This record gives sequence, C-alpha cells and structure tokens, in this order.
Amino acid sequence: MAVLLEKTEQKLNTDLEQEKQRLYGYWKNSRMISNDSVLDAFLEVPRELFVERSFRDESYADHPLPIFCGQTISQPTTVILMLQLLDVLPGQRVLEIGTGSGYNAALLAKLAGTVVTVERHEKLAEMARENLKLAGLENVVVIAGDGKKGCARLAPYDRIIVTAAAYQVPPQLKDQLAVGGFLVAPVGATHGCEMLKLCKTSPEHFQTSSHGLFSFVPLV
Ligand code: SAH
Repeated sequence: MAVLLEKTEQKLNTDLEQEKQRLYGYWKNSRMISNDSVLDAFLEVPRELFVERSFRDESYADHPLPIFCGQTISQPTTVILMLQLLDVLPGQRVLEIGTGSGYNAALLAKLAGTVVTVERHEKLAEMARENLKLAGLENVVVIAGDGKKGCARLAPYDRIIVTAAAYQVPPQLKDQLAVGGFLVAPVGATHGCEMLKLCKTSPEHFQTSSHGLFSFVPLV
C-alpha cells in the first residue's frame, strides 16, 4: 500500500512538472511574457504548495481555483501578466493587497527585496504565512487587516499590486507609493474590470495606462 501511494505521488509530481513546463513554454513561445525574471520566479515557486489539497492536480491548470473563505487563487496567466506590468526590480519594497493563498506574494518575494502583503481574512493570512514558510520564503510580512488602508508603517513602496477589483484605486495606496513607483490594480466591476498601471510622476501626479479586461473577486 505504501509503495502504491509513493508511486501515485511520484506520478502526480511528474505530471505537475510537465504541466508547469507547458505553461512556461506557452508564455515564452507566444512572447506574451518577455520578462525573464518573472518567468524564472514562476519556475522557482511550487504553486502546488499554495492550492488547496483537493485541487493539487490542477495546480498548473490555467484557471482560478477556490481557496478558503470563498476566495480564489488567480489564474496563472493573469498573475504573470500583472507581475510583468509591475516590473519589480531586485531589492525593491513591494506592497500587495489581497494575500489570498500567498502565491503571488511568493513570486514577488523572488523578485523583490521585501514584500508586505495585506489580507482581510485572518484565516487566509495565517494559511499564507504557513505556505510561505513551507516554500522557504522569509522576506514577506503578512498582515491581517483592511488593505484599502495599505500599510503606512512600512511605506513608501516602490511597487504596489492590488489583486482584487475596486471601483477606484484606494487613495491611501496612491499616497504610500514612492515617486517614480508603479501601482497595478484591476479597476471596475468583478467581471470586466480594467487592468490599470499607474506611474507616480510627482507626489500629486500619476500617468495611467490600461492593459485589458479581467475578472477578480471584489476588494471589500
Ligand atoms: N493574490 C492572491 C489571490 C487574490 S484573491 C493569491 O495569490 O492567492 C483576492 C484576495 O483579496 C482575497 O483573499 C480577499 O479576501 C482579499 N481582499 C478583498 N478585500 C480586501 C481588503 N479590503 N483588504 C485585504 N484583502 C482583501
């Protein structure tokens, strides 16, 4: 019985690795993702550590998956596109709103110096802390609280990413972004929200560009 279980486990791991490579190849060959650091981070982080156990065999399926508290871990292609837009440089301080499983925070941890991530559900924040620990990532601070307020205590941030949809970018997040920094957020309704990138050009000025329509759980 133990041998059989071990073989099933090995087969699952081989299948997951193949599916991971397939996604990677799709992004690279289609030139959808040209940022090699983002692609490397994807290869380095085991997404299977961040999905619910019963969905483990779907870890590299290109669609969102349910996590606890009625939330979702976003579709891999969406996560990677947002990270490419965010354009994180080594050593930077990044704020994420909507920790969820902690997967996006894990990718950010590979790209940045320090990651601060805020989640409103205490249970998800705790699970994300455990997942990040299992992945061996120590440069992430997970905070349970209202992400609309950001985290002024650790501001300013070079990059801010919001992974839930709101009708406007919360003003406190704009305040906590460093001049010269980028903020990426889905803005609008849950289905059909617009992916915006804001570049802070002065303490009061932002340049905004739009990058397609997506679906996200709401920022509440
Ligand atoms: N980035 C996550 C997925 C995000 S799902 C991952 O990699 O798994 C969006 C998350 O935003 C959910 O977990 C939801 O609970 C959280 N959220 C929604 N409104 C929030 C708020 N006001 N403050 C903090 N987190 C919030």
